[in-house]
Amino acid sequence: MQVTVWQAPGPKAALQRASAQLPEPGLDEVVIEVEHCGLCHSDLSMIDNAWGMSRYPLVPGHEAVGRVVAVGSDVDSALIGQRRGVGWISGSCRHCPLCLGGTGNLCASLEATIVGRRGGFASHVLAHQDWAIPLPQGLDPAAAGPLFCGGITVFSPLIDEGISPTARVAVVGIGGLGHLALQFCRAWGCEVTAITTNLSKAEEARGFGAHAVLGLDQLAQHSGHFDLIINTVNHSLDWPVVLGALAPLGRLHQLGAVLEPLSIPAFALIATRRSVTGSPTSSPASLLKMVELCSRHQIVPQVEHLPMDRINEAIDRLRRGDVRYRFVLDAPA
Ligand SMILES: [Zn+2]
Ligand SMILES: [Zn+2]
Repeated sequence: MQVTVWQAPGPKAALQRASAQLPEPGLDEVVIEVEHCGLCHSDLSMIDNAWGMSRYPLVPGHEAVGRVVAVGSDVDSALIGQRRGVGWISGSCRHCPLCLGGTGNLCASLEATIVGRRGGFASHVLAHQDWAIPLPQGLDPAAAGPLFCGGITVFSPLIDEGISPTARVAVVGIGGLGHLALQFCRAWGCEVTAITTNLSKAEEARGFGAHAVLGLDQLAQHSGHFDLIINTVNHSLDWPVVLGALAPLGRLHQLGAVLEPLSIPAFALIATRRSVTGSPTSSPASLLKMVELCSRHQIVPQVEHLPMDRINEAIDRLRRGDVRYRFVLDAPA
């Protein structure tokens, strides 16, 4: 099958529209005709080979939504026509203790959508059926794409770490991840504080569910307060101050991919049993629960749409941080 892709020919290159041969779907794979695909910061890291694992030509895009148009021989043909979403992960082995135990996002045989595979900036994308998540009624398919990477990334600490609805939660950074984290934490029942260096976003943060908005430099005045701090920022912070803002037993959950080591004072952990954790998206089970919660609570990414042919404009603007809060590229009509 001939398909259209938007691909980077080499590191840091602009994407070019091209034609490619789509492989036959594997036994348990589905072919999705892409309607919409969100643009994530990880797409930029992969285009730039910032993590040293990019292969070119590289087709980015890992927040894809579209309809199933073909299935592998082990997949029920009733899936054809269903609308499904695909995120960072397209497949896992399904047989190891992690997959069987419901933590398939930690599988050693994980297949990432844009690592050695072609992603969602394309007319069609392949995924294993477990990782192609059905969209429930009430979820707008045009805006849902960013839930499948950005959304599940911030939903993971709540569901996978068993956060209580009575928890006091702070979200650091009000961007593509943070604006979704605020919505999830509010729906979860928590006391929600948004923390930003850009207080011009304060009103929008309250609209996303924040009970309070603090400047990052005000965090030192809230020592011992938060049960969970979700950090979406990918550069170093004043870690002793951030840890000091945690209550006893509190958790700093790191989602921003800071490249330099985190410098953590041991006593900030020892005296109060605080912990520092992180997570890479989540399992298909958590994805299914996430979209259901989004449908029930009208949790929606705030997106700006551009046609797929203007992908390079979206990439340039995301590099400058010029988007509130996520781009979604739409397939040609
Ligand atoms: Zn596995
Ligand atoms: Zn992503």
